[in-house]
Amino acid sequence: MSRKPIVIIGSGLAGYAVVREFRKFDVKTPVLILSADHGGFYTKPMLSNALATGKTPASLLTSSAERMADQMNAMIRPYSRVITIDPSNKNLFLQNGEKLNYDQLVLALGANQIHLPLEGDGIEEILSVNDLDDYRRFRDALATKKEIAILGTGLIGCEFANDLAVAGYHVHVIDISAQPLGRLLPQAGGIFLQRRLEATGVVFHMDTTTQRVERAGESLQLALSNGEIIKADIFLTAVGLAPRIALAKAAGIEVNRGIVVNQSLRTSYEDVYALGDCAEVDGRVLPFVMPIMHAARALAATLTNKPTPARYPAMPVLVKTPACPTVISPPNPGAKGKWQIEETQDGVKALFQDEENKLLGFALLGVAAKEKNLLATRLPLVME
Ligand SMILES: Cc1cc2nc3c(=O)[nH]c(=O)nc-3n(C[C@H](O)[C@H](O)[C@H](O)COP(=O)(O)OP(=O)(O)OC[C@H]3O[C@@H](n4cnc5c(N)ncnc54)[C@H](O)[C@@H]3O)c2cc1C
Repeated sequence: MSRKPIVIIGSGLAGYAVVREFRKFDVKTPVLILSADHGGFYTKPMLSNALATGKTPASLLTSSAERMADQMNAMIRPYSRVITIDPSNKNLFLQNGEKLNYDQLVLALGANQIHLPLEGDGIEEILSVNDLDDYRRFRDALATKKEIAILGTGLIGCEFANDLAVAGYHVHVIDISAQPLGRLLPQAGGIFLQRRLEATGVVFHMDTTTQRVERAGESLQLALSNGEIIKADIFLTAVGLAPRIALAKAAGIEVNRGIVVNQSLRTSYEDVYALGDCAEVDGRVLPFVMPIMHAARALAATLTNKPTPARYPAMPVLVKTPACPTVISPPNPGAKGKWQIEETQDGVKALFQDEENKLLGFALLGVAAKEKNLLATRLPLVME
């Protein structure tokens, strides 16, 4: 490779989306993708409804790294973890000691699952699912087990609970908040979702948390802070994500909750960009697919010397709980307004509106989820 390449660190949805978009503008500039994992392509959101859709870890992987390299006319190096970035000299160092040079660098590093500090001799057995390799381990464990406990009733916890319960597993969910999706739904919505998931067999333990995880023969025993004891074969945690910022921070690149980038996805260093779950774009960390797609399109243009700020329309999130169709478009942080709630036996329509009845966000559950498209057109842009 004589010309210095554009280097992308990360082969998740963000890394691949930016290369795919870049190749629409430029087929010649060398592109190198470095990945700490296998480098194959899979759609991460499908992990939490794979049982219902009949997918296995093998069938979720839709393209190997070699095939992606061919399709994208890019070099891909799987199992090549970057351990240091030297942005002043435009160098990278891999775990094997190799030094690489870049022309422009894109950080698409993703996020880590947060692990709560739990106690007990069973903590080594705790699982979480944040990528395909995690999911393979989880599915292997499921093959011989039946009782599953999930810590966290956010999006991922609720989706796994629904998927597992419908597939015949006995599912307990535990959360410190009073209702599922506590940070995203008004109370009526949370209660509705809980009732629908309970109807599939999910058992809720709310307003409490797990304190100890002990081995009990082949199973685990969870001691909750409210005094309850739950027996489980598998204990899955899904309590949230933390953007991967360590590599950037050590390189002197500005970080906050995520790697800080402006609306053009540029970090505090010239020629270093970030997008996806690792990035904090103009103050927002949005670990979802749609922001990645919008950011990738803008960044691809910027990488070809056409500086283009990312613009985010309203991007409602579909929660993959078939027992309770749910669509959420949370109001922007700090937005002033109130929830207006219409509740029936079949659904909840919650609209977050300001004093002039301008729609700033919504949560639609059950039959109300059908109103998503119409209501989404009334939402303000997330980032202009
Ligand atoms: C179970 C689950 C269900 C979800 N469902 C939805 C949904 O329904 N809708 C939705 O919008 N979003 C959903 N999401 C979120 C969505 O999947 C993520 O926002 C998206 O996949 C993140 O992509 P990414 O490329 O930023 O990160 P990742 O996919 O995590 O990719 C990060 C990449 O960086 C690599 N990497 C990290 N550090 C290094 C290093 N030092 N050197 C080299 N490589 C490195 C990793 O190996 C990996 O290839 C879900 C997430 C999960 C876990």
